[in-house]
Amino acid sequence: MPYMEDILKELPQRAREKHAENKKFFAKVAKKPPKDLDYTMEQLHREEFRRTDCLQCANCCKTTGPLFTQADIERIAKHFRIRPSQFVERYLRVDEDGDLILQGVPCVFLGADNHCSIYDHRPKACREFPHTNRKKFQQIGPLTLKNVAICPAAFHIVEAMKERLGTR
Ligand code: SF4
Ligand code: SF4
Repeated sequence: MPYMEDILKELPQRAREKHAENKKFFAKVAKKPPKDLDYTMEQLHREEFRRTDCLQCANCCKTTGPLFTQADIERIAKHFRIRPSQFVERYLRVDEDGDLILQGVPCVFLGADNHCSIYDHRPKACREFPHTNRKKFQQIGPLTLKNVAICPAAFHIVEAMKERLGTR
């Protein structure tokens, strides 16, 4: 088994090589979603994350970071015993889409051991990343096309998905 470091180094290139195929695949799935897609994704997601140790990786926390909803901000600010406005001022900025995101990456809450220091209070987007078990997965093709270059688990899940659904 290659080390996670090597997997992550090669991932953007591997994702680039699959991009056209993946794009075509997601266009097809979006147009005519397989009947049991939610069930299949749940299964593929579970199988992949049984093998993948996010603590060896943390590439999402290192390279992208989540957007923060108002509920996230209130919850995390409460954890730090500060006002939501103070939390926003200290850690967040508004991006070009008007969303509140981290001021920089790697995420300031990520420890050297890849543990999240606010794990129990982390943003919803962190909890749901890479969204491969969400319902109506066919709706997030464009996002997933990006995520396969960041997340080795998402990359493997999409490969398995193409295999399983036989629509390569
Ligand atoms: S969700 Fe994906 S990118 Fe994030 S730590 Fe797990 S495997 Fe790595
Ligand atoms: S809040 Fe935690 S899970 Fe979310 S990006 Fe930061 S370190 Fe990762």
